[in-house]
Amino acid sequence: MASTQFTLFTLGCGSAKPAPPHQPSSTVLAIRNNLYMIDCGENAQSSFAALRLKRTRLSHIFITHLHGDHVYGLPGLIDTLALSGCTQEITIHTFREGADILYRIFKFFSPNLPLKISFNIIEYADAHIFDDDNVSVRTVALDHRIPDVGFIFEEREHPRHIIPEMIDRYAIPYSEINNIKRGADFHTPEGIIIPNAELTTPPAPPVSYAHISDTAYIPDLAQRIGPVDLLMHETTYLNDREKDAAARGHSTAAQAAMTARDAGAKALLTGHYSSSYRDLLPFLKEAREIFPNVILNKELLTLSLPL
Ligand SMILES: [Zn+2]
Repeated sequence: MASTQFTLFTLGCGSAKPAPPHQPSSTVLAIRNNLYMIDCGENAQSSFAALRLKRTRLSHIFITHLHGDHVYGLPGLIDTLALSGCTQEITIHTFREGADILYRIFKFFSPNLPLKISFNIIEYADAHIFDDDNVSVRTVALDHRIPDVGFIFEEREHPRHIIPEMIDRYAIPYSEINNIKRGADFHTPEGIIIPNAELTTPPAPPVSYAHISDTAYIPDLAQRIGPVDLLMHETTYLNDREKDAAARGHSTAAQAAMTARDAGAKALLTGHYSSSYRDLLPFLKEAREIFPNVILNKELLTLSLPL
């Protein structure tokens, strides 16, 4: 059974230099009614509004690295959330340096925020960094010009589905329902044990998503990511500029495809296009020569996982 509770939205998939229609980096994951943003480039909030995402549902922002095209949208977004009357807690997951800078910006420009901003300090390393009821998040260290991490989101197991007729047949009390959804057997008042397998059907498998931007090609990265449902891997350049990619800490479409293939990913999503390319179809063509299931990223793209 397909899960419809894990959706990716691309707010921006360009690189640093403005090149319409592209916007700087930002992605939002909607996982079971909560929104998790990854990077917040300039104008991210315009796409956020265009996609009609609910501001009150945003509670976590993950920053891959401290280049402006991945963070300049953050002060504006936070002000807009405040102006919209949002009062939730927002946790920003970033390096110590990012937390120090952002704290000063918010304190200066937005001293009376109704929101509570907190920071989860992450390291430039492969590490488990966050858990809530919906998802578990880990980082992988990338190879860019400054410290930079990718994020891997692994959805939590769904509860099992209870078969409605079984509730009536065995007069299962309401207080037992959650235990049964978690896998417990049911003990009738007469002392008969009804095995869980008779009462429930298995849940949809949890979804996983890896977000890798920005990085040079790293041969062992695929193994560190693992077989995700969807890998977004930056494709700043095509093969014709492989030397530029290596020198600037970026990847080509072919390199992203090699990582998707070697990780055992089910699909590859492109992105972080250099402004020097107008036509994106060559990205699709180059990547598909190595890995078949490639999705060409674009602003306001919406993907429900699993695909
Ligand atoms: Zn960068």
